[in-house]
Amino acid sequence: MANSPEVSTEALADLRERYRTERERRVRPDGARQYLGADAEFGYYAADPYAGEPTGREPLRDRVDVAVVGGGFGGILAGARLRQRGVERVRIIETGGDFGGTWYWNRYPGIHCDIESHVYLPLLDETGYVPEWKYAPGEEIRRHAVRIAEKYDLYADAVFSTAVTSLTWDDTSEAWIVTTDRGDKFRATYVVTATGTLSELKLPGIPGIEKFAGHTFHTSRWDYGYTGGTPDGGLVGLADKRVGVVGTGATGVQVVPLLAEDARHLYVFQRTPSSVDVRANRRTTAADVGADRPGWASERRENFLRVVSGEPADADLVRDGWTASAGLLEKLLPSFRRSGDRTAFEASYEIADAVKMNEVRARVDQVVTDPDTAAKLKPWYRYACKRPTFSDRYLQAFNRDNVTLVDTADTHGIERMTERGVVIGDTEYALDCLIFATGFSVGVSGVHSGRLPVRGRRGVRLRDAWREQGPRTLHGFTSNGFPNLLQMGGTQSTSSVNYTHVLDEHAVHAAALVAAAEAEGALIEPSRQTEDDWIAVLADGAPDHEWFHAECTPGYYNAEGRGRPNGPTAYPHGAAAFHDLLERWRANSTHQVLRPRSVPRREV
Ligand code: NDP
Repeated sequence: MANSPEVSTEALADLRERYRTERERRVRPDGARQYLGADAEFGYYAADPYAGEPTGREPLRDRVDVAVVGGGFGGILAGARLRQRGVERVRIIETGGDFGGTWYWNRYPGIHCDIESHVYLPLLDETGYVPEWKYAPGEEIRRHAVRIAEKYDLYADAVFSTAVTSLTWDDTSEAWIVTTDRGDKFRATYVVTATGTLSELKLPGIPGIEKFAGHTFHTSRWDYGYTGGTPDGGLVGLADKRVGVVGTGATGVQVVPLLAEDARHLYVFQRTPSSVDVRANRRTTAADVGADRPGWASERRENFLRVVSGEPADADLVRDGWTASAGLLEKLLPSFRRSGDRTAFEASYEIADAVKMNEVRARVDQVVTDPDTAAKLKPWYRYACKRPTFSDRYLQAFNRDNVTLVDTADTHGIERMTERGVVIGDTEYALDCLIFATGFSVGVSGVHSGRLPVRGRRGVRLRDAWREQGPRTLHGFTSNGFPNLLQMGGTQSTSSVNYTHVLDEHAVHAAALVAAAEAEGALIEPSRQTEDDWIAVLADGAPDHEWFHAECTPGYYNAEGRGRPNGPTAYPHGAAAFHDLLERWRANSTHQVLRPRSVPRREV
C-alpha cells in the first residue's frame, strides 16, 4: 500500500488494529436483540405527547382512489405528486396527530436537520418557501410538511391518530381493503406505503430498566411538561435535577448541549462516541442560495445528490461536511472509482478515511480540556461506519463542571438499573431523570416486516411470498401478486443521505404509475420475469462494501456488527443513477407493469 504524506503505512496498520480491538470491545452476542420495542409494558414510551386524547369519529366505510400509509414526508410527497396528476381522493392514514412523520415525533431540544435545509425541504420551488437557516430547526421543517399538505389539500381526506392494521387485495372488486385500529374498513384502488425506515423507537434492554423510580422518556417523545422549555432550550424544570442521557448518536449530539445548559447535573452515558465535525450553521438569504430563479431548489438538490453520489457535477453548490466527504460516506460506491483498479481504489479510500478521522479526533483534543474525557470522546472506526454528526456545541459541553461523561464500552452499555439510577461497574449513578436517545429499529416498519399484514392475490401474505427467496420487486416499488401496491423507500431501490430527495423521486414515480394505470384502465403489477430481471440488475456490480460493514463498529448500519444481510438490497450504482434509470424507464417501459383489469375501474 502506498505511503501518503499524511498517513504512513505503519500508521494505517496501527489504525486497522485499533479499529479491530475497539470493535471487539463492543460487539454483543445478542446483536439487535439487545433492544426492546415500545410495546406491552413499555408501550407508554410511544404514546403521542402532542395529540391529546383522540377525538371520536365514525368508522370509515367509503372508497378512495389512493390510500397512503404514513403521513411523513414520504406520504405527503406521494399525496402532492398524485394531486399534480389530478388524482382526487387521496387518503393519508397517519398514527401521529398531524403530518410530519419524523418531524412530528422528534421535537427534542436542539433538534435540527443536519442536511442543508435548501436541499432537504422538498417542494420549495412549488411552495415558494425559502428556509432561513442553512440547517433548519425541526419546527421549521414540521411546519413545511404542514405547508405542503395544505397546498395540496391533503387534509381533506386524511385521518390522524390512526394506524393501518391490514391491507387485503380483493380479487373480486380489484381493490384494496384497508382496515385500521379505529374500526375503519374502506376500499382503495391503489395503496402507497410510506411508513419510514427509522420510525419505531427502541429502548435498551437494560436489566432492571422497569425498576427505575425516576422519570424516563425517549427523545422522540420529549416530555416538555417535565423539563419545561421548548426545542430552543430553557429547560427550567431540570434546574434542580440530576439528568442522565443514554446514547450519543445524531440525536444525543444535538440534545446534550441544551441539557447541559439547564440540568443541575448531566451524566452522558456513552457506549460509542460519534464523529463530531464542524457545523457552522448560519442564517441565509434568498440571494445566498440563488432563490430568485425559478427551479433553483430542484437544481440545488440535484447538484447535492450528484456530488454525494460521485456523479459528474459542474460545481458543489452546498459545500458542507457531506459534500466534502462524499467519497468516504458512500462507502466505495462504484461511481467514485475513476479507474478500473479496485485495489488501488480501496487503498486510496483507506488513506482518505484515516486523514478524515485523524482530523475528527484532533478536533476533540482541541476542544475538550480534560485529556481523559477527550480520550473517551474519540471515535475509533471508519467515518462511514456510523452516521457522522456535526456540532459546534457538543464537545464544548464536556468542559462544563455540571457535565460528566460516563464511558460504558467495556460493559456493553449500562449494566443495570436500580430504583435510584444506573449502575456501571461498582458505581451507581443516582438520577432524577433518564432520557433515552437510543434511536429506532431498522426494518421493522412497513410491509416487509410483516408487522403490517399485507395479503395479495388469493390471500397470499407478502411476508410468505418473500419467505424463501427474499424480497421480490421491480425497482423496490411493485411486486407480482400484489397489484396496485406501491412501496416507497423500501428495499431493492436506493437511498441517500438526503432522504427526502429519494422519497420525492419515489413519489413522482408512484404518481406516474397511478396516472398510467388510470389512463389505460389497467392494474399495476410486474411479472415474475420482470422481478427476476431487476434482481439480476441489483446483483450486477454489487456490493463493493460488504467487507466494510463487517469491519465496522456495531450499529444499525451493520445489524449491530453482523454485517449486511445476504443478497442484494439496493441498486448498486447510487441514488442519482437510480433516479435517471427510473426516468428512462417511465419514458419507455411503463407498459411492462400494466395489466388489463377484469373489473372496469368505475365499478370498483
Ligand atoms: P442511533 O441509533 O444513531 O444512536 C443510538 C445511541 O444509543 C448510540 O450512541 C448507541 O450506542 C446508544 N445506546 C444504545 N443502547 C445503549 C446502551 N445499552 N447503553 C448505552 N448506550 C446505548 O440513534 P439516533 O436517534 O441518535 O439517530 C438515529 C438516526 O436518526 C440517525 O442516524 C439519523 O439517520 C437520524 N437523525 C438525523 C438527524 C438529522 O439531523 N438529520 C438528527 C437525529 C437523528 P452504540 O453506538 O454503541 O450502539
